[in-house]
Amino acid sequence: MADNETERPADFIREIITEDIAAKKYESRVHTRFPPEPNGYLHIGHAKSICLNFGIARDFRGLCNLRFDDTNPTKEEVEYVDSIKGDVRWLGFDWDDRLFYASDYFEKLYQHAVQLIEKGKAYVCDLTPEQMREYRGTLTEPGSNSPYRDRSAEENLDLFGRMRAGEFETGSRTLRAKIDMSSGNINMRDPVMYRILKAGHHRTGDTWCIYPMYDYAHCVSDSIEGITHSICTLEFEDHRPLYDWFLEELGIYHPRQIEFARLNLSNTVLSKRKLIQLVRDGHVAGWDDPRMPTIAGIRRRGYTPEAIRNFCDRIGVAKRDSTVDVALLEYCIREDLNKKAPRVMAVLRPLRVVIDNYPEDLIEELDAVNNPEDMSMGTRKVPFSRVIYIEQDDFREEPPKGFFRLAPGREVRLRYAYYITCVGVLRDDRTGEATELHCTYDPKTRGGDSPDGRKVKATLHWVSAEHSLEAEVRLYDHLMKEAGPGQQEADFRALLNPGSREVLRSCRVEPGLAGAAAGSRYQFERLGYFCVDPDSGPGRLVFNRTATLRDTWAKVQKSGKK
Ligand code: ATP
Ligand code: MG
Repeated sequence: MADNETERPADFIREIITEDIAAKKYESRVHTRFPPEPNGYLHIGHAKSICLNFGIARDFRGLCNLRFDDTNPTKEEVEYVDSIKGDVRWLGFDWDDRLFYASDYFEKLYQHAVQLIEKGKAYVCDLTPEQMREYRGTLTEPGSNSPYRDRSAEENLDLFGRMRAGEFETGSRTLRAKIDMSSGNINMRDPVMYRILKAGHHRTGDTWCIYPMYDYAHCVSDSIEGITHSICTLEFEDHRPLYDWFLEELGIYHPRQIEFARLNLSNTVLSKRKLIQLVRDGHVAGWDDPRMPTIAGIRRRGYTPEAIRNFCDRIGVAKRDSTVDVALLEYCIREDLNKKAPRVMAVLRPLRVVIDNYPEDLIEELDAVNNPEDMSMGTRKVPFSRVIYIEQDDFREEPPKGFFRLAPGREVRLRYAYYITCVGVLRDDRTGEATELHCTYDPKTRGGDSPDGRKVKATLHWVSAEHSLEAEVRLYDHLMKEAGPGQQEADFRALLNPGSREVLRSCRVEPGLAGAAAGSRYQFERLGYFCVDPDSGPGRLVFNRTATLRDTWAKVQKSGKK
């Protein structure tokens, strides 16, 4: 990846790593990992973690593993594994031959657990989940020891072996670390290491009926892979003593855990649990619905990997939680597409315009610039004819003050074409709405320039009625309304924005878009950035609006909200 590496801001994690290298820790190696649990699709928060872990590996000439934390067979599916791999690759990162699964380590994890039992540091506990909660204590009161805590190592080894052999019912016993039931840190109150779960696993099948818990599996997996810096989100800060305890007691290679603030984004939810609900309850069309903050959704919406990486660079890495305004993400895609996306003309809500003095059978091929930001993208021909469509919004029969577009008697410029003047309006008898305009054109203004320096106040986009193609355009707005104070914990579905999707079925686009491939991105002049949806096919064009042209980020910054 080549985007301005030298300007990348240093963050506190890169500072720590720089110091560790200088101190020759871990033989000055840098080895990170991105450890998703395959229980949902990745979202933009994960992109932050991916950019951080793979980005650090790149910057320090180290390595980054992709490791699936697949320790919970009941929630995990192969579909998620495949989508995650595709998403990481699409973002532009590569794990080479370092694709791992925590489940690859089940046997090693088991042997290490045996080691802890032999050392008197783990025991089999028969408390039910409810009892265990009672014994655990609270934030202000210490817990109390399980009556099974003092079982002998022999008995524990026997019971643990029989747990593995499937002799006991799901949930009837656990293996727990023997630490300290009065610890001020609840995570250290004899946390569960293994539970019995008689469920098939997507990789190990029926081999196992006991599964390790995240806190135990994670640190040992990091150790096995020789990770140097295990970067995770802030909620694991209180788990770090446990991370260190396991590795210390096992006496095995010990990576360093570093926590950073997770990404929160306005006007959306970034939690797999909530995203799953949106998909299952049909609030969105699927994981890749363009309104979803998933990588799959954002990609379908038309975002580029460059824009997302740039966004992740800009938000930086901090130690304190905060919420990023979604306007910054939108700013990043505009900035990228402004340079890359060819301009085309499309009319979303067509209003028919007949140019009375234009010859009936004349068709002119007019020159249009593909991208004024990048003249090397060249020009194209756009057909012009006697009947065209303009945007309904661009005409007012009784223009209010400040409305400079077309109105009866008024002259405007058609982009790349001619000046036209409105001379007549046909209306719907019932609604009174304009259904067709009649205009005259000035042949001397070909290309959109007036020979006598006559000024017009507006330039409209248009398409030729006969030559343009029909298209469906899907407009998107924020998935969620912004939560007011105290609303965060309320049912998030109450905050769903009912106007987050609008589908327009009789749009018209210029003929050059025939057969545009899914994923192609354009700027529709004056309207925004749009991308061809995979629902398109032979003779059917469907577009998603990626972003409007309105930059709300500048406003956010000005108001100091940041
Ligand atoms: P969620 O909270 O959305 O359910 P998770 O943390 O359970 O996500 P994992 O699959 O365990 O999801 O996450 C993989 C990695 O991505 C972890 O290292 C996690 O810390 C990181 N991650 C998850 N969400 C975010 C976020 N919002 N911002 C930054 N990193 C994140
Ligand atoms: Mg998790």
